[in-house]
Amino acid sequence: MLSYWERESFLSYDHIIIGGGIVGMSTALSLRQRYPAASILILERGLLPTGASTRNAGFACIGSLTEILDDLRTMTAAQVVDLVAMRRRGLRRLRDRLGDEAIGYVENGSYELITDGEVVALDHLYHINDLLRPLLGSDAFSRCDDRIGQFGFGPSIRHLISNDHEGQLDTGRAMRALIAKCLHGGIEIKTGANVTAIEEESHYAGVQVAHSHIGERVTFRARKVAICTNAFTDKLFPGLDIQPGRGQVLITKPIPGLRIKGVFHFDQGYYYFREVDGRILFGGGRHLDFDGERTDVFAHSALILSDLRSKLAGIILPHTDFEIDYTWSGIMAFGSDKVPMIQQHSPHVYLGVRMGGMGVAIGSEVGERLASLMTDTCAW
Ligand SMILES: Cc1cc2nc3c(=O)[nH]c(=O)nc-3n(C[C@H](O)[C@H](O)[C@H](O)COP(=O)(O)OP(=O)(O)OC[C@H]3O[C@@H](n4cnc5c(N)ncnc54)[C@H](O)[C@@H]3O)c2cc1C
Repeated sequence: MLSYWERESFLSYDHIIIGGGIVGMSTALSLRQRYPAASILILERGLLPTGASTRNAGFACIGSLTEILDDLRTMTAAQVVDLVAMRRRGLRRLRDRLGDEAIGYVENGSYELITDGEVVALDHLYHINDLLRPLLGSDAFSRCDDRIGQFGFGPSIRHLISNDHEGQLDTGRAMRALIAKCLHGGIEIKTGANVTAIEEESHYAGVQVAHSHIGERVTFRARKVAICTNAFTDKLFPGLDIQPGRGQVLITKPIPGLRIKGVFHFDQGYYYFREVDGRILFGGGRHLDFDGERTDVFAHSALILSDLRSKLAGIILPHTDFEIDYTWSGIMAFGSDKVPMIQQHSPHVYLGVRMGGMGVAIGSEVGERLASLMTDTCAW
């Protein structure tokens, strides 16, 4: 049984956020700006955040040329521009909130590698620049084939496109800076707190967490609860339009004299690599086995890791000796379209989920919009 003191002082909050990834912490910080005196609690099931936010590639991206062309197959031009705008606003908010130094933000530019099979994308470069120019103020994409030799890519790369509107950050430092900002703002964070159910009561939502040492469930209460559990939302609210998508990543040991700087994509963004501390971080390949990677289990795919190894040797580092140091996976969330889900779910419960492969870019903006929705709406 909980003690009198625990019941009186530990269970009731103004706002509870479930999920301690970039969206959960951004939502908490946006709520804090609106409610300086409110009690705000983040419940995170992992010892560390355990989804995508500490496992990604740290690209600060608005989208590559072939990714935007692919988006235009399923979205209107206005929707595509809106999504690029959201990515830009999110990155601006993250940088303003934490500072470039704290998050290791650098604008080394980004590049897309174009193989023979994708040369047709170049025919659309001017059109896509025209589409985005009113938003960006200048051209997004320009050809820079002369730099292929400078980076030393393999012969299958026929063209290179640069984008001056993208950068990179240090994912670990950015997440630590978010945690520090939350703690400094009086936001409580409880880790190891796996929420198993949420129950609507008339004046609040009850949030249940197992308390293994006393062998019972603890119910926290708040008038407003934000669900920021991204790919794992289905466990709390089955049936939403959210599917998990696992991403595989490898990192090499430091490579002396590495010439690659900046962030790079190819194949509609399905592959991505960058330099970090003199190493190459390389991830992607989910499209090789969409069914197998539609999972929220953190594990390796031999098929995809073998593909990544062969592309690393054949395309990215064809003339360089390297050793793979280790690999990991992270879990993203996708739906029938690319737009994140930001909505009121029930009287006291709100959702900010389904970030796709863009959460570093859009996460802070999603948190802001979710906090604004929680502020503007009353319980039903
Ligand atoms: C390999 C990889 C590379 C990526 N690269 C990039 C990139 O370069 N640029 C980019 O913009 N995006 C990238 N992304 C996507 C980006 O990382 C995600 O979109 C973003 O981190 C999602 O943030 P989130 O807070 O919504 O979700 P998450 O980071 O998944 O956070 C959700 C949190 O909720 C917690 N949780 C879940 N269920 C419960 C529960 N029941 N109780 C308590 N806590 C719970 C989880 O433990 C987790 O910590 C990448 C993703 C991956 C996997």
